[in-house]
Order: sequence, then C-alpha cells, then structure tokens
Amino acid sequence: SDVILRAEELYKHYPIKAGVLRRTVGYVKAVDGVSFELHKGETLGIVGESGCGKSTLARLLVGLEEPYRSHVGGTSRPSPGRLLYDDVDVTKLSGAAWRRARRDIQMIFQDPYTSLNPRKTVGDIVAEPFHIHPDVVPAAQRRAKVQELLDLVGLNPEHINRYPHQFSGGQRQRIGIARGLALNPKILVCDEPVSALDVSVQAQVVNLLERLQAELGLAYIFIAHDLSVVRHISDRVGVMYLGTMAELGDEDQIYSRPTHPYTQALLSAVPVPDPTLRNSRDQIVLTGDVPSPANPPSGCRFHTRCWRAQDRCVVEQPQLVLRPDGAGEHASACHFAEVREVV
Ligand code: SF4
Ligand code: MG
Repeated sequence: SDVILRAEELYKHYPIKAGVLRRTVGYVKAVDGVSFELHKGETLGIVGESGCGKSTLARLLVGLEEPYRSHVGGTSRPSPGRLLYDDVDVTKLSGAAWRRARRDIQMIFQDPYTSLNPRKTVGDIVAEPFHIHPDVVPAAQRRAKVQELLDLVGLNPEHINRYPHQFSGGQRQRIGIARGLALNPKILVCDEPVSALDVSVQAQVVNLLERLQAELGLAYIFIAHDLSVVRHISDRVGVMYLGTMAELGDEDQIYSRPTHPYTQALLSAVPVPDPTLRNSRDQIVLTGDVPSPANPPSGCRFHTRCWRAQDRCVVEQPQLVLRPDGAGEHASACHFAEVREVV
C-alpha cells in the first residue's frame, strides 16, 4: 500500500508528581488515543490551539518521547497503540533495529534560533545525524554531502564553516532542514517550522519544503496553529483538541465542509481579508477556557465549550469515524456532526 506511517491509538501521559515523596497524583493526557495514516509523498497538516498535544505527537512520532503508556484508572500499563513505519511496528523494536527504523523519519523544529548549537559550525550541525548513523555516509564523503545538502536547501555551500549567528532566521531554518535531510529520510515531521519567522520569510520556507517534497518524494507531517499556512501546504488535515483528533479529512473537506463544531469555530475565527465579507459570516465565539489535559471533560471533551452539546455528549466519547459532509464523507469525532459551510 502507499501508507508509509500508521499511528494506531497513540498515547502520551505525563505523570504529575506531588509532595515530598513525589508520588504520582495524576496524569497529563497530552496525547490520548490518536490514530491516523500518512501516505507516501503527501502532506498531513495537524492544527489545534497550543496545548492540544500537537508537539507531543510530533515528538512521539520521531522517537523523542518514550511513548505508548496509558494510565486508565490510575494504573500505568502498556498502551495498545502501535506506530508502523512501512508496516513495521517500531514500538516493539529496540537498539540498532529501532535506530534504523527511526532514520527514515526526521524532525524539523519550531525555533531556528534555539534548535541550532551556537558554538558549532553549520557543517558540524548538518553532520550531527552522522554521529548516530555513521554508516549512511562514509566519513571521507561527509563534507561533500553536507555541501550538497546546503546547496539543496538554497544555502551557499561555501558557508559551511560559518556559525548560526551569521545567518538570518529563514536561513537558519534552512540549516535545520538540511540537517533533517542528512539521513535521506522518507518522512519529515515539521513542528511549527515557520511560526518563529517573519511573514515574508515564511512563504520562502514553505516553498522550499514544497520543492523538496516534489524532488525527493518526501511525506510531511506539518504541524502549525496557522490555519492558512496549513491549508496551503496540506493534502489532508487533522484537527486536534485536548489530546485527541476531532476531525480528519482532505484539505477541502476540512476547510470547506467541516462537520465538527470545534473545527467550525477555529475556521470562523480566521480573519477575513476583505472587510465587506465580514458581516456575511456568523462568527462562532468559543466561550470558556480550554480544560486542563490533566482532567479532560467526560464524554466528548469539547462538550464544555460546544454550543451544540446535548446530554449524550457528556457521557459518551464520540469516535473518529466517517460521517456525511454534504458532498461525501470524512472522519469526525462528533455525535451530531453536521456540515457548516465556512466562507
Ligand atoms: Fe459538540 Fe457533542 Fe459533537 Fe462533542 S459530540 S462536538 S459536544 S455536539
Ligand atoms: Mg507546540
């Protein structure tokens, strides 16, 4: 099949410690049962407010977080979740096999100002992955490989001995992308890759990612809170709320025919460039705070802020399943999924 990555019921619960004995008194359910597929060469966008678990999900996918435990009923137990790369469940691997599998999925970090070591040259930074995976490129060829990578991301290969502070923000993100490509991965997980950049520079980095995708056949998971950037780059989009996936579908399904009230609220909050259009839209204003992921609401965890909530929503958690959207169907975790066109 063309599924390159499959997440099945992924969890990441952080223990909350209290008292002098540092006893575990609860868990922050940062990622709480997330499933999706990523296809070869596509971009899956992930959106949601800060604290919804998108960054934790990114770190789980690339192995920066030790995953796969859930804490149902206060007891820690292995999660039933699986994470498959090319049909291999990496949660069952360890040691060299685990590292080998992880080589194919690399991360681009949010902040190009802090994710690069200021004391290292660009050449050393881009070559960092070779310390863990020395067999990918022989030592004698690494300098040439690094220069090739710098060229690939639009940097001058002759600047290999410069330090991060000698580059602009956009150039630093290019350095991070070059490092992410060093091991010839199949998947890049991009966590807010342009959020820290000036708007004018954002488009350049997004264009670079699109060009690299076309040239190298990469699949992306593109995490951002900026809905218009995600719409631009994504083939499919997942909307996260409090550690779960609220809605998942093709870009046009999510943006033109959302059926989940949370997605509808997020989209209605996007500013309209043309002020004459503004009156024609009914803006949905979400009331109430985002509940704590340590104590998510029962049933549908959006029910405390949902204007369509009914009794059932308080007791029964809606599953992320295909539901009609007016022109077809796509996945939505709402008992009363109903299309609402967003201008
Ligand atoms: Fe709202 Fe109920 Fe749908 Fe949850 S299941 S989004 S509370 S209507
Ligand atoms: Mg984040």
